[in-house]
Amino acid sequence: MATRSQIPLIFEHSSRGRRGYRYPALDVPETALDELIPAEHQRQQPPQLPEVSEVEVVRHFTGLSRLNHGVDVGFYPLGSCTMKYNPKVNEDCARMSGYMHLHPYQPAETVQGALALMHRLQSYLSDLAGLHETTLQPAAGAHGELTGLMIMRAFHKANGEDGMRKEMIIPDSAHGTNPASAKMVNYQVREVPSDDRGGVDVDALRAMVGPQTAGLMLTNPNTLGLFDENICEIQKIIHEAGGLLYYDGANANAIMGYVRAGDMGFDIVHFNLHKTFSTPHGGGGPGSGPIAVSQRLAPFLPEPIVAEQHGEFFFKRPSQSIGRVKSFYGNFGVLVRAYAYIRSLGEQGLKDVSETAVLHANYLMRNLQPYYELPYDRHCMHEFVLSGSRQKAHGVRTMDVAKRLLDYGVHAPTVYFPLNVEESIMVEPTETETLTTLDTFIGAMKEIAREAEESPDVVCNAPYETPVRRLDEAQAARKPILRWTPEH
Ligand SMILES: *Cc1c(COP(=O)(O)O)cnc(C)c1O
Repeated sequence: MATRSQIPLIFEHSSRGRRGYRYPALDVPETALDELIPAEHQRQQPPQLPEVSEVEVVRHFTGLSRLNHGVDVGFYPLGSCTMKYNPKVNEDCARMSGYMHLHPYQPAETVQGALALMHRLQSYLSDLAGLHETTLQPAAGAHGELTGLMIMRAFHKANGEDGMRKEMIIPDSAHGTNPASAKMVNYQVREVPSDDRGGVDVDALRAMVGPQTAGLMLTNPNTLGLFDENICEIQKIIHEAGGLLYYDGANANAIMGYVRAGDMGFDIVHFNLHKTFSTPHGGGGPGSGPIAVSQRLAPFLPEPIVAEQHGEFFFKRPSQSIGRVKSFYGNFGVLVRAYAYIRSLGEQGLKDVSETAVLHANYLMRNLQPYYELPYDRHCMHEFVLSGSRQKAHGVRTMDVAKRLLDYGVHAPTVYFPLNVEESIMVEPTETETLTTLDTFIGAMKEIAREAEESPDVVCNAPYETPVRRLDEAQAARKPILRWTPEH
């Protein structure tokens, strides 16, 4: 199998006096520097910039870009992240000058096209959610959660119940952002265990609810990639206790067009436009986590919402709005990509996305099952979780399997998450890969399972083919070097 070629890591190229560009001679009268910039704002020392030729700059950055794995380079089965391929046409749309060069302070009458796009996107997302109204403001999934929970609190407060409803119930398989968001709005988190089919333990939930329950946060399918079959029962338990249901819809790939959060009884849902709806992510770039809410929660949405009357679009403030959660109107470029994605696929296309994402995950799961432990042997949705427990018996940890995969040119799956599976390996293939790629991945995983049995050291010392070998991850997280400073 092909491996990634090693790229030399030369970082310092500077050489005194080397230039990439020379300015033409001045053809306007020279102005004294002091006339342009007050003396106290003038630099005392020349800046310490690298002195390099143009070709060195180009090679340097091109080289750096090749050190990174990305979905344009290879398979990226990172679970709970939906690292799918995003059609380039949606990038073109976001870069159309009529969108790209807008200024957020422009009066609404000069940006009617942009407002129309936002208004339609609000309504498409409300439709996909099966809920009443949508805000496009939140900048990420976690930000959507925070906004949704602020709305939940505002709702309980309006009913005079905020004082007593202090608890947010969250399953043990939840994404880490869920308890973090609940904490940020001052809810006490109560963890509900999973049952032996990987869903919420309904009896435990029933014993947990009461007048202290503010709500439940749930991902369905959950982070095990399993659809909770008891969702109707679950929503009944929470609603009868006077709580609300928050749906973490970050990975809508699994159900889009087939199941709607509102129909399952949820009151609030966020979407990750940077996962499901065609914005590339992973580098910390701009994201978008719109939330949709039911009719009774719509008055609490953050301002502004785009509204329409007689063909004219304008911003409105919902009557009991929690206020602003972001400057201006959300990350507009991400909204354009999502709009283009939804329009170009259409209703049937969105359903095909879900079907294919689920099919691909099940294909991988069943083909890997002979080699890796499958803790929950059920049909999965868009992702599934394996356990590296068999490999661990040979001294090979899940981390080693993940590192060995890099030698096959594949990004590692999510590992050690969710927390309720030992040595977990969480795989999300997405709908955008070919059968050839899926089979290649199966081949690599099979080979690694064989190595783990026959020559575990090979796996434990991987990777061999990447630009750097194993990094000190604690140091990298605690003492990152984020800024280049010249050596001389
Ligand atoms: C990615 C993800 C989130 C958080 O989204 P961000 O945009 O990274 O804040 C929340 N829940 C689940 C299930 C996710 O997969």
